[in-house]
Amino acid sequence: MKTIKVSVVTPDGPVYESDVEMISTKAQSGELGILPGHIPMVAPLQIGSVRLKNGGNTEFVAVTGGLLEVRPDQVTILAQAAETAEHIDLERALKAKERAEHRLNEVKQSNVDFKRAELALKRAINRINVQKRDF
Ligand code: ATP
Repeated sequence: MKTIKVSVVTPDGPVYESDVEMISTKAQSGELGILPGHIPMVAPLQIGSVRLKNGGNTEFVAVTGGLLEVRPDQVTILAQAAETAEHIDLERALKAKERAEHRLNEVKQSNVDFKRAELALKRAINRINVQKRDF
């Protein structure tokens, strides 16, 4: 099987780098599947998981949105934060989820705070799902 090099990069440095057969994730426009030879493109991502397939092996990375860039020989995902499933602290994500849910109940009047809490909740749920490989 052909492979393509993929790297997931955050302001703190690279989080994941490998050669894979397929990359699947959610762009803002919908599900996105990238195979070697895909046309060059840039797509904004949702808060979600990136699925990386190689042979019988599938790895998952949680990303907080960001941008995916496809070049002929390389796919780069640039995100504010990203964690591989093994690096996710489940307890921390569960606490973040609880905090965000609490805030969502408190701040219904303020639109700005509501949006912030909603995004925090999405990040937490995404991390929990990726850590549990539960989609
Ligand atoms: P928290 O409230 O727990 O900080 P958050 O969603 O506000 O969560 P981010 O701002 O998205 O956190 O990320 C800040 C940094 O912490 C990033 O480097 C991110 O990779 C890391 N991080 C956040 N949550 C977790 C987690 N549950 N496990 C491991 N790393 C995490």
